[in-house]
Amino acid sequence: MFYCQRSSYETEYESTVVSCTPASRKKEQSGKKVELKGYEVVFEDTVFFPEGGGQNTDLGLVGDNNQVLEVTRRGDLAVHFLTEQVQPGDKLVQKIDWDRRFDNMQQHSGQHLVSAILEKDYNINTLSWWMAESTPSKVGVSYIEVDKPISVDVMTSVEDKCNLNIRKSVPVSVTLFQRGDPQLEEAHTRGLPDDFTGPIRLVKIGDLDNNLCCGTHVSNLAHLQAIKLLYTENKKGKTLLYFLVGSRVLKYLANTLQRERSLTETLRNGPDSHIDLVEKMQKTLKISTKTNSNLLKEIALSEAKEKKNLETKPSYIYFYRREGDNDYISTLTKELSDYLLIVIVGEGNSGQLVVTGQGEVVVDIGKKLAELLDGKGGGKGSRFNAKINSFKNISQVEKVIQSCIAPSS
Ligand SMILES: [Zn+2]
Repeated sequence: MFYCQRSSYETEYESTVVSCTPASRKKEQSGKKVELKGYEVVFEDTVFFPEGGGQNTDLGLVGDNNQVLEVTRRGDLAVHFLTEQVQPGDKLVQKIDWDRRFDNMQQHSGQHLVSAILEKDYNINTLSWWMAESTPSKVGVSYIEVDKPISVDVMTSVEDKCNLNIRKSVPVSVTLFQRGDPQLEEAHTRGLPDDFTGPIRLVKIGDLDNNLCCGTHVSNLAHLQAIKLLYTENKKGKTLLYFLVGSRVLKYLANTLQRERSLTETLRNGPDSHIDLVEKMQKTLKISTKTNSNLLKEIALSEAKEKKNLETKPSYIYFYRREGDNDYISTLTKELSDYLLIVIVGEGNSGQLVVTGQGEVVVDIGKKLAELLDGKGGGKGSRFNAKINSFKNISQVEKVIQSCIAPSS
């Protein structure tokens, strides 16, 4: 039992270093996993909660600037991963990142409350749960894994009941029992590891719920502020219920409002019209795309006709059209199947190359042009296809084609 579990609301604690060993951890830093060198430190006791029971690790400082990057449980010990070395015997002040801890407490106690209502009133049992980490730009949405599907109606009434109990300010208490205590029903201690020796913590929410748990919890449901159930997801026959508690509800709402404001600016109309407007835009876009495609087909037909009407059959035909699409390409290849034809469409870093015709020259031109335009693809016989990644050398295409047709010997 750690100090953090005895006093969930304490943010600082002075304790003596028992051991300090060099170690390293793989940690994510600006999107990349990097190996960080540091020290594994054990104290006589700790205000830092070591991750476990679904609750994420505490972070913070030891002294003024020795950072605590992770705290894990190893047997009965809490192992702190610190950036700086400390000496056994040092008496140091531990300071937790309280905003993070309180947020973790809200999510964890909130999970107990949602699970309790689901089980008591709907016979839906919790199998596991997962606490999401928030990032500066994204609010972490945690989930509870349950054994039955949850309808939208049930979700709404569970949320109502949770918030009603928050308004009632139901107290949350932690009681300690020794193993085998007759006050503990056998059911509560089932599932404990055999080598478990410490006292058993029973977290009680009024007369709603009794649960064995190692986590740090709020002392009153009022501290949860609010619970929002977002949606469910079916995963391999099990249901995941996504939820937010307390400050995460407000942050999520703030992000949603920010997006709404941006949409209002872009669409130049109020939030009530957003869906209508986007639906209209999608319809218009569909019609425009269709019209565009038809026009491109017309262009291809007319271009093909012009080539077919030439008095002397050209040794090759080359078309490059930025806005060309698949229909444009297939119309040309169909209409000009008797010619050596090279079609390129696209711009920037995305496009297509098609070569059709007779003889080895098809693949020869295809390969050389793919190389010229940083393309990937291949072909055999009468057709060569490639995806183009760069149009930097597009002006040299004809030169390459000509060199393949009449190799300078
Ligand atoms: Zn718990």
